[in-house]
Amino acid sequence: MKNRAIFLDRDDTLIEDPGYINHPSQVKLLPHVCEALIDLRQMGYKLVIVTNQSAVARGIVTEDGLEEIHQRLIGLLRHEGASIDRIYYCPYHPNGIIPEYRKDSDLRKPNPGMLLSAAQEMEIDLEASWMLGNSYRDIAAGMRAGCKTILITSAEKPAQRTATDPIPFKKAVNIREAVNIVKTYDQHSRFVETASEQEIQLPEPEAEPIAVSAGPDMEQNRFQRNHERRRGLGLMIPDTPIISRESQPFETAAFVEEESNQQEPSETVQGDRIEQLLEEMVRHLKGMHRESMFHEFSILKALAGVVQVIVIFCLVWSLWFLLDPQARISSVHTLIGYAAVLQLMVIAFYMMRDRK
Ligand SMILES: [Mg+2]
Repeated sequence: MKNRAIFLDRDDTLIEDPGYINHPSQVKLLPHVCEALIDLRQMGYKLVIVTNQSAVARGIVTEDGLEEIHQRLIGLLRHEGASIDRIYYCPYHPNGIIPEYRKDSDLRKPNPGMLLSAAQEMEIDLEASWMLGNSYRDIAAGMRAGCKTILITSAEKPAQRTATDPIPFKKAVNIREAVNIVKTYDQHSRFVETASEQEIQLPEPEAEPIAVSAGPDMEQNRFQRNHERRRGLGLMIPDTPIISRESQPFETAAFVEEESNQQEPSETVQGDRIEQLLEEMVRHLKGMHRESMFHEFSILKALAGVVQVIVIFCLVWSLWFLLDPQARISSVHTLIGYAAVLQLMVIAFYMMRDRK
């Protein structure tokens, strides 16, 4: 059985992106990354970073420097109990200033070269895998490789889209929500598998024979789409070996065609039912409110809320004193002072929460 993988972009997906990172001290994990990776690991996924590093071609960092940066990243993750399986990077760029790296490459996202190479080296089932990233280049690479995709984008850091960019399978505001999406999808998939297994076991002695040879157009289109997409993979042949230390030569389109043939099963009624269930599942997912998929409890957030209520209470109380002619003005000043101090506490709680 092949492995399932989560392909992860690096900059602004796992770590902060200050521009070009050329020193390990610049590596700073984004919030929720470690817990997200731990969750994905527990769900049985291989974790693979695929990152464009044109900084090498631009002369900003060397490959040895990049190795140190990645060791720092691995160390930070390990410190929090998280880990990754492998890092692939593409050092090439057509406008680079280092001749050795100045070229276009099928490894460079939006091309899927890094994902395809990882699939070969790590025996990954691409159709059962996901690509998570903060740019449409990540989404395009994931889709070309045949993975499901999640674009991580938020109001603070929106992904810039052009007219030709593909539409991701899902969008998430951060990696935590992306993990929830994968988890929900997996749960539904397991449900569908269980349901179909149970259907197989049901005796149907009185059932009318169902003609499967004249499958609906929808089924034909589905298989045609799959076939065309897989055939497209054959065109994406990296012109260079993969950057991983354990690189192996990349096989040609013949491999992809062979796999394609293997994965076109005969159409059955059961397949039809599975597709109906899948469509129902997609409708259900679309209908779910995104906020309900992203549960996050923070003690700091709760504290900030409680203190904010006290601030409002102090202000209302001071207003009540102001309107009372017999009340002392010093009481008003005291209450407003308390309100100001507590409001600062609220701001501090929110800042601490964001930095967490
Ligand atoms: Mg990125």
